[in-house]
Amino acid sequence: MDRICITTGLAAVCTAVLCYGLIPSEGLKYLWKRKSRKRVKEGSGDRRLFLTFDDGPSRAYTGQLLCLLKQYQIKASFFVVAEFARENPDLIEWMKEEGHLVGIHSVRHRNALFKGRRFVCEDLRESVETLEDMGVKIRYYRPPWGHLNLWTLFFIRKWNLKLILWDVMANDWSARETAESIREKILSRVFPGAVLCLHDGRGAVRAPERTIEALKESLPVLIEQGYSFERMDAYEY
Ligand SMILES: [Zn+2]
Repeated sequence: MDRICITTGLAAVCTAVLCYGLIPSEGLKYLWKRKSRKRVKEGSGDRRLFLTFDDGPSRAYTGQLLCLLKQYQIKASFFVVAEFARENPDLIEWMKEEGHLVGIHSVRHRNALFKGRRFVCEDLRESVETLEDMGVKIRYYRPPWGHLNLWTLFFIRKWNLKLILWDVMANDWSARETAESIREKILSRVFPGAVLCLHDGRGAVRAPERTIEALKESLPVLIEQGYSFERMDAYEY
């Protein structure tokens, strides 16, 4: 009898954990990618790409990236960590001046997967307020690692935020990747209408430097292939 109770209890806990964070996170990633594949299959995706950058701004790299994007007149979307934004208000101002879209990516890049209501509410509220104090109207949110839970869904709906995930990663945060391997991943994985997720902060030592080097090589190739670049507010959901 005791064994049955313990088994039942464990099953209930596992189900609750799955339903609270894992299923919403993984389910939404699956649905996002399925929608993108469907669009490509139907041939409705034109040759637009959506360049997005997470985990900045960083003093060492974001300026270099902004200069590179300006060189090709590319508008991108930056999902910034609020505490890094507070440390680098001039970089946020620079993004705005260049016409990039700024969204939020948490206050301190903590994982929200199993966090409670209070954490989720405060993390979103502080992120939005930090950026809005810098004159950025916030409408877009990308959770760190794409991890969220039922409270995240509740609050983004309540505050009318749009959840942004991605189609293509190049593992550019990893110490195992080189500029060359990131370039190869970008070029081999993109498809019309894809949302690319890259990083201008955090990650392995000098990781964003490799990202920027990879972009220097891959952007002219993508343009040559007929791709154009848009901000996430031009993305059709
Ligand atoms: Zn991140």
